[in-house]
Amino acid sequence: MKKREKLQIVRKHYPNALTTIDYINKIIDYVEEKLDLEPSQIILADSICSDDVNSIQYPVRALEFLGPFKMGGLDGFPFTGLSGMAAFASHVPDDGAVFIYYGPHIGISKEGIIGKINRFGQNNNSICCGAATVALNNLRENSIKPDNITELDYQMNTIEQILYNQKDKILNAEIPLHEATEIIYEAIDNRIQELIAATKYNCKYIILVGGILINSDSDVGSFSSTKRFEVIDLKTGIRENLISILNQG
Ligand SMILES: [Zn+2]
Repeated sequence: MKKREKLQIVRKHYPNALTTIDYINKIIDYVEEKLDLEPSQIILADSICSDDVNSIQYPVRALEFLGPFKMGGLDGFPFTGLSGMAAFASHVPDDGAVFIYYGPHIGISKEGIIGKINRFGQNNNSICCGAATVALNNLRENSIKPDNITELDYQMNTIEQILYNQKDKILNAEIPLHEATEIIYEAIDNRIQELIAATKYNCKYIILVGGILINSDSDVGSFSSTKRFEVIDLKTGIRENLISILNQG
């Protein structure tokens, strides 16, 4: 399948999606040309779902950065919290930067089915993101209780509460899983901004990339749809909005 055919399937739902390979290349080009930094001066922290498909489809060039520090748990929520953010902030080279990539994920199979992918060695498609799909099913069945967060299933319960708080919006949407994923993105984005504001960094820049990570079948690969691309200059505090760089097809 050609790249343009793959993009055609994904862009039905995410019009600004790029392949993850093109995506990381654009970010590395920006870092080298505009920030005058090499990937080896930058620590990458990702807040993406712990689903093994995200390790299998991790773009090879992302490994040119230091790291990755893994902030995410189920569906990419930054469960390592303030301590996680403080940890990698203290690991970064003095003249370097931190690069935070975050967001929930969603499957789109090559037949265009949202919430499903075909994984290595399997005949049938399986759900993706599993956590978001199960939480959505629980929401539909009215089995989520307000403020119910247990020690045994802490991360899942947190995702359930995020959806519970926007129940009507999600269940009235044309594609509820798509809407649930947008809601989870908003929760992750808000939390990332809170964590950044409460953390001290001893480097030059924070590179912030948030979006929806889209997984497809094992022979199709992954894609990213950007919602935020900003660079914060830590000396001046100025935030530059660079989203147009990641919106070009
Ligand atoms: Zn997941």
